[in-house]
Amino acid sequence: MTLAPTAADPEIERIVAGLPKVSLHCHLIGSVQATTIVDLARKHGVDLDGGRTADNLFDHASYEDLDEFLRVLDVAGSVIRDADDFHRVTYESLTDGGAAHNVLYREIFLSPPGHPGVPYRTIIDGVLAGMRDAETDTGIQSRMIVGLNRNGSAAAALELVDTVIEHRIDEVLGIGLDYSEAVGPPEKFWKAFRRAGEGGLERTAHSESGPPHHIETLLDLLGCSRVDHGYHVVDDPEMTRRCVEERIPFTCTPVSSDIGRYSGSGDGTHLRIKQMVDAGLLVTIDSDDPPMFGTDPTHDFRALAVALGYGLDELAALTMNGVEATWLDATDTRALERRARTMIADLAAGRKAQA
Ligand SMILES: [Zn+2]
Repeated sequence: MTLAPTAADPEIERIVAGLPKVSLHCHLIGSVQATTIVDLARKHGVDLDGGRTADNLFDHASYEDLDEFLRVLDVAGSVIRDADDFHRVTYESLTDGGAAHNVLYREIFLSPPGHPGVPYRTIIDGVLAGMRDAETDTGIQSRMIVGLNRNGSAAAALELVDTVIEHRIDEVLGIGLDYSEAVGPPEKFWKAFRRAGEGGLERTAHSESGPPHHIETLLDLLGCSRVDHGYHVVDDPEMTRRCVEERIPFTCTPVSSDIGRYSGSGDGTHLRIKQMVDAGLLVTIDSDDPPMFGTDPTHDFRALAVALGYGLDELAALTMNGVEATWLDATDTRALERRARTMIADLAAGRKAQA
């Protein structure tokens, strides 16, 4: 199921489908297809919440209520349990949910607290295997970000950061902070973020509903080099100016944030994202929890193209912002930039882009 707006003109369809994409805000649990969740529930003998099926597991109309969305997310997370499960959901997310949409590179958000009782190492091993197979089969590259759960305690977050550092592998680039902002204000987690910085991990955090001063907290107290969502930055001209000057990336997710009434008023106009782009902020586009919100990487670009009248130039600029915003090293960034520029040039020339 996809959300309105659906039909764009054929030229827009050609552009959004062929556009190379860089995915910096996609949660592993939130990217699992409903049919896979039903399969895994059967495998582990779990009774899905009132006998839900693949057809009615995701009811995105109900996600204006964040708690309802997080409840469904917990159900999904609870059936992903062994390394084979993590391999499968990672592979599917990166191939059908990534490479098939010309996603060249993804930094995957993991949520270890969303899989109660599963050892961290099991998660990492399964995800890593899925990443490698997906790259072999489709060429998509990926890395990991470990998300701290702000519904949990500051001590639990610190413990997770210690675990990440103890089991450090090159593919884990940094940490994030997600779940309910109303429950867990960013400053509560300063110790976990400081420890992550000392351990050489990059840092980002969600600020979807939070006021502009939360962005200052993210940058100055938590040491974040990116902001996830961050729509309220445009309410504060001074903070906007600072983020423009420092080229702070904002990983915006049009469709999911519109449903939650965060990036706009739920009417598909995506006005806050337009304001952010017009202000000169470094905006990147991704899908957050794609099947749960009835979207996919192509559809989020389509939604912006239809709502804001964006064509190839504007959409390609968002992709190149994504290239600039990754946590890859300089060599890998240059290689990614070359791939993206070649595909954009092909699209502009009317050739079929080759990933
Ligand atoms: Zn998110």
